[in-house]
Amino acid sequence: MSIQQNIQEIRKHIPSHVRLVCVSKFNPNESIIEAYEAGERVFGESKVQELCGKQETLPKDIAWHFIGHLQTNKIKFIVPFVSLIHGVDSYKLLAEIDKQAAKAGKTVNCLLQIHIAREETKFGFSAEELLETLNAGEWRSLKNVTICGLMGMATYTDNREQIHTEFRSLKVLFDQAKGQYFNDKPSFCELSMGMSDDYQLAIEEGSTMVRIGSSIFGHRVY
Ligand SMILES: *Cc1c(COP(=O)(O)O)cnc(C)c1O
Repeated sequence: MSIQQNIQEIRKHIPSHVRLVCVSKFNPNESIIEAYEAGERVFGESKVQELCGKQETLPKDIAWHFIGHLQTNKIKFIVPFVSLIHGVDSYKLLAEIDKQAAKAGKTVNCLLQIHIAREETKFGFSAEELLETLNAGEWRSLKNVTICGLMGMATYTDNREQIHTEFRSLKVLFDQAKGQYFNDKPSFCELSMGMSDDYQLAIEEGSTMVRIGSSIFGHRVY
């Protein structure tokens, strides 16, 4: 199937309130253009250098999302154009993004990444760390970042029940954080969860944004 056909197929399963982020990492510009011509405008990349190269050469109306693990010394390269950073996994990183955004005279949209999987290798705040950080309140003084919601990745497993449980726990945490800390902030509204293998489960559990790569572009060549 072509990239266009893959996208058409996926769209059938995504309700209109859920946004599709086409994860184009490791895929060439030609593939991104195909998805662009099928009407997609939101693309996700996980490496700063690759993202910057693509942003320079591809159409300017693409909304670029950074979905990888961001190192503090590379923030400045993406701040000028990035439309959402999904994987903010520490207060220190959030504060550093704020600093770089202030320098650039911008406000940068961020999602806080929560560790919901059983795998040790994944990044993110635990539920306790998130609530502690929000409770500490320092984040309220960061004027150049907007916390737009939470992001998480489920365990890589065939156990659908486990995946459901992990996504559900993220939704519960999202609702709790929203109720306690963001009630007056309508911008806290995104729950980024779901990838090629589990996005339908994530949507059932309340995802507002799915990040889909291989089901659109085929399997990546590393
Ligand atoms: C690569 C990646 C995706 C897309 O994964 P697929 O299984 O190819 O859909 C989604 N989210 C993050 C954070 C990723 O790194």
